[in-house]
Amino acid sequence: MGSNTRGEGTVSEADCIFCKIARGEIDAEVVHDEDDVLAFRDINSQAPVHLLVIPRQHVANLEEVGDLPDGVVKRLFEVSSAVAQEAGVTEGGYAVRVNNGRDAGQEVLHLHMHVMGGRKLGMP
Ligand code: AMP
Ligand code: ZN
Repeated sequence: MGSNTRGEGTVSEADCIFCKIARGEIDAEVVHDEDDVLAFRDINSQAPVHLLVIPRQHVANLEEVGDLPDGVVKRLFEVSSAVAQEAGVTEGGYAVRVNNGRDAGQEVLHLHMHVMGGRKLGMP
């Protein structure tokens, strides 16, 4: 693991756990699979429904989101909605959360959206 100019950790695509899932090198419970976006179950669920939605292309965080091709960010939100619908939490509601950087507790340095539902969720 190296570090960037902000002193935060970085990880190469070769070593990135979510890139490995996207390449099929590590198993995950995939619930949605398309060209640019993948969704799978979080291995350590914090809610009855807890999914992760990621761009296949490695970007570490929101500061790098401009590196994604046009339309992928929109798809991240559309897929979040679709997998929430598929999981049956649309009516009750759900949270879509990006932990970005150290203070937010970001552990995996590949941009991902947590889609959580099935129980009452509060801030933070
Ligand atoms: P964050 O703190 O936002 O970086 O969240 C990373 C999330 O990735 C955590 O909720 C972990 O439980 C989840 N996670 C880590 N490794 C895996 C994996 N191999 N498969 C599925 N989820 C994972
Ligand atoms: Zn990655």
